Amino acid sequence: MSNSIRDFTNADDVLIIGGGLAGLFCALKLAPRPVTVISAAPLGQGASSAWAQGGIAAALAEGDSVEAHAADTIAAGAGLVDEDVALALTCEAPERIEDLLRYGVPFDRDLEGKLALGREAAHSARRIVHVRGDMAGQAIVAALTDAVRNTPSIRLVEGFVAERLLTDNNAVTGVQLRRLDDIASTVVTIAARAVVLATGGIGHLYAVTTNPQEASGLGLAIAARAGVVIADPEFVQFHPTAIMVGRDPAPLATEALRGEGATLINGRGERFMLARHSAGELAPRDIVARGVFAEIAAGRGAFLDARAALGARFAEKFPTVYASCIAGGLDPATQPIPIAPAAHYHMGGIAVDARGRSSIDGLWAAGEVASTGAHGANRLASNSLLEAAVYAARIAADISGHSLPSPAGVLGDQGLARDCAMPADATVALRKLMSSHVGVIRDGEALADAVRSFAAIERDTGNIALRNMATTALLVAASAFSRRESRGAHFRSDYPAEKQAFAHRTMTTLSEAQDIADRLSESARQAAQPLMA
Ligand SMILES: Cc1cc2nc3c(=O)[nH]c(=O)nc-3n(C[C@H](O)[C@H](O)[C@H](O)COP(=O)(O)OP(=O)(O)OC[C@H]3O[C@@H](n4cnc5c(N)ncnc54)[C@H](O)[C@@H]3O)c2cc1C
Repeated sequence: MSNSIRDFTNADDVLIIGGGLAGLFCALKLAPRPVTVISAAPLGQGASSAWAQGGIAAALAEGDSVEAHAADTIAAGAGLVDEDVALALTCEAPERIEDLLRYGVPFDRDLEGKLALGREAAHSARRIVHVRGDMAGQAIVAALTDAVRNTPSIRLVEGFVAERLLTDNNAVTGVQLRRLDDIASTVVTIAARAVVLATGGIGHLYAVTTNPQEASGLGLAIAARAGVVIADPEFVQFHPTAIMVGRDPAPLATEALRGEGATLINGRGERFMLARHSAGELAPRDIVARGVFAEIAAGRGAFLDARAALGARFAEKFPTVYASCIAGGLDPATQPIPIAPAAHYHMGGIAVDARGRSSIDGLWAAGEVASTGAHGANRLASNSLLEAAVYAARIAADISGHSLPSPAGVLGDQGLARDCAMPADATVALRKLMSSHVGVIRDGEALADAVRSFAAIERDTGNIALRNMATTALLVAASAFSRRESRGAHFRSDYPAEKQAFAHRTMTTLSEAQDIADRLSESARQAAQPLMA
């Protein structure tokens, strides 16, 4: 681990920000080209990739096909998936699994030695490669971390957070970083002509989430603040079965449990999903999340019941979930698990093309921070690790064939010492507002309130970390406000039906979100005037 500004002095031309699957895979694919990987958390920590339980989707089974995998992806996305993007993604899945095997990921195999394939919700075939049941993410990140540490061309800088993207004339010129463990740290600004953002998702902007703290939408915010086009920010997937044992983030009970026959029941022991969808517990995630939400809102509570399906086999089949339950004081082999929907995955992100390029020169994005068009309004389970690997590989290929002007080197320590401590109360309030006003069930009035609040924070706070959180929150809320329909993971109680007029992806910018906030503030002011007169 190297943490000094001196480590930046021979700046490489390629800077990768993020040490999850997308960032590490891209760095490995670029080898032997020198790259620097910057990660807020030490590798293996603070990355959703390491927490993935299900695995990676790939059409590898006899009788399955890449077309069927693409068709399931398109169906899940509720009319907004780019069909060419989905098919290209599913076609590249087998090659990326081969890459991961080469990097040392020990995917589970069946008795014949073939890759063992699990089944997950809304997949028409068994096609999820996994590791030791529910430990895919941990095993993937461990293998890639080893590979990265053994690759001399990759320089790792852990413990630094990127808080600003520098641009000139619609091209990236550098990145401003800050040391995480030093709240009064000075700003480090380094030059770069090629930046790959691989900073993950936004789940931690919500009070109830399965995502690590590092998934607070900072990568999305720094791109948006640099004027980059953002796609589909309103589409946030809520995982229906976060385990409610008083932990933040909430541990996850993987969908694969329902694939194995676990059922969803309320406090009266009734299977409430049967009345809501023909696929019952294996219905698309958004429908299950709303079902769980409705039972909790009605005061009946919601539970995942694996007693009959797994019983004593629970610990062996799902060790991670089992350990989370035991740590929370319940035994899932003999007791139903209390659950709630939690912010889990962001379909929106930096708009990128098939090569992973954003709207400004020299900026690529991969993994959850990007929006490729593959997920539409709702992601199919286990397609996100796949997308991270596929786009990381494509970006590496694109950069390899790209001649870059040499970077200007270290722009230097600007000597700006300032207090970067995150105001805890403000963060808690922001996260609560996201959950209550921009959550599983939304409406125009609550969204308008949220837009105005986030815009005020974004405009007024002097704390750059809080401002970046508010920037992403504002983009999500403003686009959710503008989409006056329900589609996929975006549900509006005031517009509960899908509308043809909205059958398109959102392409937006921070200044458009700020304009929406200004208009809403103006109409609130006008509405208040007669009362004040
Ligand atoms: C509990 C859980 C289970 C999941 N299960 C599955 C599954 O089974 N299958 C599947 O396909 N998907 C799953 N997902 C989703 C999937 O894990 C993520 O979408 C994917 O791992 C994202 O990878 P990434 O590389 O883009 O981001 P991450 O793995 O989140 O990595 C982001 C990296 O960026 C760093 N970072 C963040 N901000 C900054 C900054 N400003 N400066 C510097 N560094 C920064 C972080 O420290 C981290 O290293 C799951 C997610 C969760 C939370």
